[in-house]
Amino acid sequence: MKNGFATDTIAVQVNALAIKDTHGLTLVDVGTSKGIYDTVGNFLENFTKAGYTTDEVKRIVLTHLHFDHFGYLFDQKGNTIFPNAEIILSEDEYNFWNNGTPNLSNVHTDQGTKDFFISSAKTVIKNMKKDFTVKKDGQEVAPGLNMIAAPGHTPGHFAIEGNGFVYLADTFVHPWLHLSNPDLTSKADVDPKSVVASRKRILDKVAKDNILVAGSHTNFPGFGRISKNGKGYDWNEIPFKWK
Ligand SMILES: [Zn+2]
Repeated sequence: MKNGFATDTIAVQVNALAIKDTHGLTLVDVGTSKGIYDTVGNFLENFTKAGYTTDEVKRIVLTHLHFDHFGYLFDQKGNTIFPNAEIILSEDEYNFWNNGTPNLSNVHTDQGTKDFFISSAKTVIKNMKKDFTVKKDGQEVAPGLNMIAAPGHTPGHFAIEGNGFVYLADTFVHPWLHLSNPDLTSKADVDPKSVVASRKRILDKVAKDNILVAGSHTNFPGFGRISKNGKGYDWNEIPFKWK
């Protein structure tokens, strides 16, 4: 055990972000569907418990098209779960998964998992029925929030910045591994070399400016700050207050 975590297995938390402001409710990613892993699949239930309704979501920003991020966009029949939401994603991401067979030659999973990455992304694109908006690096993805392209984990993967906050998305997948050893990659990375470059560029910036961050796989409660520690980084979570 180290820092309260087992050292022989890796637990990865999956987060989605809800932002409520004067522009209405924005979601950044929508969790993982039930049934893929035993311990995830609670996004919609938790979203509802937090007092939100699916009708009030104005926009959904998808940081990339991996199945752990778009699980509750559509139901099993392909019908939308958030009827009033605009869907926003990266143009590079859309092109990568949509055009022909995506090149996953650097992904180190079994073929079945690779096939699932591809089929699930293609299914979600089909279900969107061209009813979505694509954005590029630097463009606004939601009111006051801009895309920071962070290619590598997938070609169109991005972080988001605005209002003194950065959403790191999958800039790192496991806090205890990738922050202390930022040169390590993950087996799902499409282009491992770019992962490391994108990670260091973004983490150096948020560490230097001491910016509030959250990410798709940051530990509970998900929000914190990053500081430099030698060649790596430390995660300093914001203490959570129960209401
Ligand atoms: Zn992820």
